[in-house]
Order: sequence, then C-alpha cells, then structure tokens
Amino acid sequence: MEQSIENKLIRADKAFSEWKKVPFEDRQKLIAKAAELLKNNAEKFGTIITKEMNKPVAQSIAEVEKCALMMNYYADAENILKPEHIDSQYSYSEIHYVPKGVILGVMPWNFPFWQVLRFAVPAILAGNTVVLKHASICFGSGNAIEDVLLEAGFPEGVFQNLEIGHKDVKEVLEHKAIAGVSLTGSEKAGAEVASIAGQKIKKSVLELGGSDAFIVLDDADLVEAAKVGALARLQNCGQTCVAAKRFIINEKIEDAFLPKFIEEYKKFVPADPMDKETKIAGMARPDLADDLEKQFEKALENGAEIILPLERISDNEFKPGLIRVKEGNPILQEELFGPLGMVMVAKDDEEALRMANDIPFGLSNSVWTKDKTRQLFFIENLESGTVNINRMTSSDPRFPFGGTKTSGYGTELSLLALREFVTAKTIVGN
Ligand code: NAP
Repeated sequence: MEQSIENKLIRADKAFSEWKKVPFEDRQKLIAKAAELLKNNAEKFGTIITKEMNKPVAQSIAEVEKCALMMNYYADAENILKPEHIDSQYSYSEIHYVPKGVILGVMPWNFPFWQVLRFAVPAILAGNTVVLKHASICFGSGNAIEDVLLEAGFPEGVFQNLEIGHKDVKEVLEHKAIAGVSLTGSEKAGAEVASIAGQKIKKSVLELGGSDAFIVLDDADLVEAAKVGALARLQNCGQTCVAAKRFIINEKIEDAFLPKFIEEYKKFVPADPMDKETKIAGMARPDLADDLEKQFEKALENGAEIILPLERISDNEFKPGLIRVKEGNPILQEELFGPLGMVMVAKDDEEALRMANDIPFGLSNSVWTKDKTRQLFFIENLESGTVNINRMTSSDPRFPFGGTKTSGYGTELSLLALREFVTAKTIVGN
C-alpha cells in the first residue's frame, strides 16, 4: 500500500479515538453546518457531478439539495444511541452503543454525493470515522465532500477521500485500522468485498443492484402512472438502482396504458447535460453503453419484441428503448442499468406478483391500484426492501433503505442506520 494511503488510515484511526468522545449533539451541529454549506453551493457541487458522470445538471443540483435535507434530518434526529436501561435484578443493567472505528465506504458513480453522504453521515454521527473509496470517475466529488466537511468544522481525519482504484480495496479493507465496510455498487463488487470482510471478521453493509417492478393494475390512474413510470425508468439516464426496470401491466389496460406510456417516454430526448432544461443526457461511460447495447441484443435474441428501439446516437447516448419481454427470457434475470425498459403483460394479480418476484434482486417495487385489498396483497407478498403504492421509488431520509435477496443487506437512512456500525455492549451486574 502506498505510504500516503496508509498515513490516511492511521490518521482516521487516531481521529476516531477523539471523535468517539464528542457528544452526539455536538456532532449534530457540525452536520447541520455542512448541510448549510452544501445547500448554499448546490450549483457549484452539481456542476462537479455533471462534469464527472454526465447527469443533467438540474438533477445534479437536486441531488446536492437532497443531501442537505438528509443531513438536516440527522442534525435533528433523536439520539437512539444513548445508554439504554433494561429492567432486571442487577444494579448495572444497560446497553451502550459503541462505535466500531474507521469504516471504509466503497461507493458508485451514479449519485456521487448522495451515495457517499447517505452512508457516511449516520456512521459519523454514531461516532465512527470514514475513509472513502469512490468510483474512479468521481474523485472530484470525493474531494469536494471532504473539503465541505472540513470547512464545516469536522476534525481532520473524520472523513477522508482515498484516491484509489478497486484493486487497492482489498489491502485497505484488510488493514488493522479498518473496522467495517459499506459498499454500494454491483453484486460482483459486493460479493468480493464482503468475502474479504468476512475473512477478516469485519462488519459489512451491501447496497447492490435491482430490477424493480412497476406494476400497473386495471383500476390505476393510467395518466399519472404513465407519466411517473417514464420518469421512474429514465431519470439519471436509467442509471439508478431503484429505477423502475420492468413494467408489469394488467392485460385489461394494456391498450389504454401503453400509448400514454410511450408518449411520456418519448419526451426524454438526449441533450446537453449542462442545460438546466435537459431531462436525459448520455450514460456515465461509453463502456456502460456498450454493455447495455449487448443486453438489448441478448433480449431480442431470446424473443423480446421492440416497442421503441434503443438507438445509439453517440458513444454514450441513446434514444431510450422499450421492449416487450415474456417470462423465461434470460434478460429478466439481469439488471438493465441504462435507458432501456421492459414491458410484461399479466393476466391477473397472481401472475403480476409471480413475475415481479421472479428475479434474483429484491430492492424496491411500485404498485399502482386504488383498491386497498389489492394494495395489501402486493404489500404482503412482494419480495423487496421497499413497496411503494401509487408512487415511484425515491429514497427519503425518514424511511429505511435497503434490499433483500442479491440486492444486499443492512439498512441505510432513517434512525436505524445509526445502529449499523456500532456494537451493542451489555453492562450487567452489581
Ligand atoms: P461497481 O462497478 O460495482 O462499482 C462500485 C464501486 O465499487 C466503485 O467504487 C468501484 O470502483 C468499486 N469496485 C468495483 N469492483 C470492485 C471490486 N472487485 N472490489 C472492490 N471494489 C470494487 O458499480 P457501478 O457500476 O459503479 O454502479 C452501478 C451498480 O450499483 C448497479 O448495480 C446499481 O444498481 C448499484 N447501486 C445500488 C444502490 C443501492 O442503494 N442498492 C445504489 C446505487 C447503485 P472503480 O470505480 O474503481 O471500479
């Protein structure tokens, strides 16, 4: 390992020995200050995001503003890490929540500020310190976040960006200074990182891929579902873990819904990411566009029909595509991380549920129906970390976020995230 990287790990460990003693409320004041800095400079930071990964700048600015909202949520949050008394016959009878130490964050490029801060803020508020391995195209975002936290008054070493490639993750994670890891990214990266953590008995949290269903039943508000559905697939150029990727439509409304959906879909025309009116731009990297094109071909070879062709118009831009896919097509077992949606037709609710659950992932799902009984049927039976009723999935700091099946394990956001990187230490006796 390069000496400069090891020095950062040692600094993070030293910072932890002081940071863990800082009162929760004082940590919250620094988080509030950092939130203010982000909010006041959202345009500047949004521009960094867009230049790194091509997200339309209005969406980049919204991402930074959402980080500030999330940080204000934690700045005002109840301290659920206070020592907890348990009724017993002993005079000492308590749980203390003890931070674990230096936590490594391995983060993706698709929301370069949000993913990092979503993990780091509750970890730091719980008394840990953080080192970041950001996606290789997002080191600028990583450095900007470190600068903001320093400017807000966080002590040196509480948050540091390591400019390292993914091949260096193993050595960093195995270092004795590192107590745990949180990875947001693909299953491949998640499996590799979690097995290294497992070998060293270090705690891991994994937020991985998804192939969420957007289920439209015959009594749904079709106009709203069509509009929200197109956005749910195509926001951030389709590069969102909780994007709607499979549209499962009740056969009774196929003819009424599809034309409306196509009309909304066609409003997403690739344009300049720096223009604030732009709704969709190019993908983050040309090789990701190559991968998506290969998946499109694979889907067609296995019987998928084109509704709207996925049309490549430059090295990283597409006119968004839409395909009709039948059960059994192997493409259904993969995540389409770009502007290509899949439509399936279900004859009834049972079939829609079976189709929705028949994937390796379990991140989130969205169901459109006004009928309470049908809503409950899907709420109880969908295999995912989140179920949305008559809305698209979008994370909210107040609610837990996480997946099941190969979408990962562990919880981000909400008060629960404060307990991910702490040890519940029992104090008992007389
Ligand atoms: P990725 O290729 O897995 O990269 C994510 C991070 O892991 C990057 O920092 C990457 O570093 C690193 N990495 C890659 N391979 C690694 C390995 N073998 N060992 C250690 N680190 C490794 O994923 P991505 O393409 O950036 O992001 C897209 C994926 O993330 C999608 O599957 C998406 O669904 C998922 N995602 C999930 C959530 C969620 O909350 N569940 C949120 C957003 C995205 P390099 O850049 O240096 O390769």
